[in-house]
Amino acid sequence: MNIVIAGGGVIGLATAWRAQLRGAAVTVIDPAPASKASHVSAGMLPPGNEQLYGQKDLLRLYMASRELYPSFVAELEEFAPAGYRRDGVLDAAFDEDALYTLDHQQAFQESQGVRAERLGPEECAKLQPAFAPALGGLLSPDDGAVDPRVLTAALRTAIESLGGTIVRRRVTRIDGHAAVLDDGDTVPFDRLVLAAGCWTHRIEGLADGAVPEIRPVKGQILRLHSNPPLLNLTARALSRGSSLYLVPRLDGELVVGATYEERGYDETVTAEGTRDLLTRVAEVVPGAGDLRFAEMNASLRPGSPDDLPVIGPTTVPDVYMAAGHFRMGVQLTPVTAEAMAAYLDDTEPPAHALPFTPLRFT
Ligand code: FAD
Repeated sequence: MNIVIAGGGVIGLATAWRAQLRGAAVTVIDPAPASKASHVSAGMLPPGNEQLYGQKDLLRLYMASRELYPSFVAELEEFAPAGYRRDGVLDAAFDEDALYTLDHQQAFQESQGVRAERLGPEECAKLQPAFAPALGGLLSPDDGAVDPRVLTAALRTAIESLGGTIVRRRVTRIDGHAAVLDDGDTVPFDRLVLAAGCWTHRIEGLADGAVPEIRPVKGQILRLHSNPPLLNLTARALSRGSSLYLVPRLDGELVVGATYEERGYDETVTAEGTRDLLTRVAEVVPGAGDLRFAEMNASLRPGSPDDLPVIGPTTVPDVYMAAGHFRMGVQLTPVTAEAMAAYLDDTEPPAHALPFTPLRFT
């Protein structure tokens, strides 16, 4: 089976690798692999988030992915390090309302069998001494984060080690069973996966309505640096009705995110976005101002019409889609890749993936 994947972000690359493990020959086509949302993403793997509340199907998908993560990473690490840590996530409350949010989060986690330990102010301070005084916290010891830059580099190594090809070109349109590239070349396929994030529906040549529009949702994100790392573990700081995530890497990088903006395909880093994140991080981590300013980036989360992932066959024979993962693409990578590999292999896809087929929009 010759599979072509248009788009080499974390979703396209992981799909390619899992399809290879089932015997497929894969070609990933992307003008700049892993350079968009997957490059700037924090890679936070939290014990849950408010997006899951009341979303039964998404919750099942999410829990399946959370369960798959350790084995997915262990298999990938036979090729290269994957940048995964599972040493806990601390949710810290900095105002009274945030304490109620923690109650809710704790009840939610307990209902899902996700371990959660309630902490008082002193325990928070002990765990994360660089934090401003928190009113309380919730520690989820079995959750963590992955560095998406390391993860996607490992996926590329795995794909190439297994004989796959990564072509640095843009797919402009589909012509029967061939992808037409921006230099006019064509790449034939038995099956095609459209995994080009919020650019997926811009690939031409498919019947109207076969591919739902994937809208861009801009996120700006900050990277600071210190040696040794300022924070000990992955955290979310809750205050004034919002949550700021703080993802420390072992090499001293501290990722602070993020903004949510509906501004079309604009990927500019703005003064306002930078000021917003610098202000918010300084409120909860007073020493952050002394850290080295490493990067400020912007990219586009892929949002489907119902904000849920789109995974599976389209109405066009042999054309599949894996896109629209919005704020959770890194979290949902293992489950998406597994489901896609099953579809491409004509085996039964896992039941938790079925509600997410592109056919729900037709
Ligand atoms: P992308 O990574 O956008 O990849 C799409 C690829 O398609 C790109 O490489 C692009 O070059 C390529 N492409 C485009 N057009 C074409 C074409 N015509 N032909 C071929 N290739 C093409 N998720 C989490 O789970 N945890 C987080 O902590 C988190 N934090 C985030 C923070 C920010 C600031 C942002 C922006 C996102 C965050 N996300 C997070 C969301 C996550 O990054 C995305 O859901 C995920 O990266 C989507 O992956 P993707 O492969 O679908 O898309």
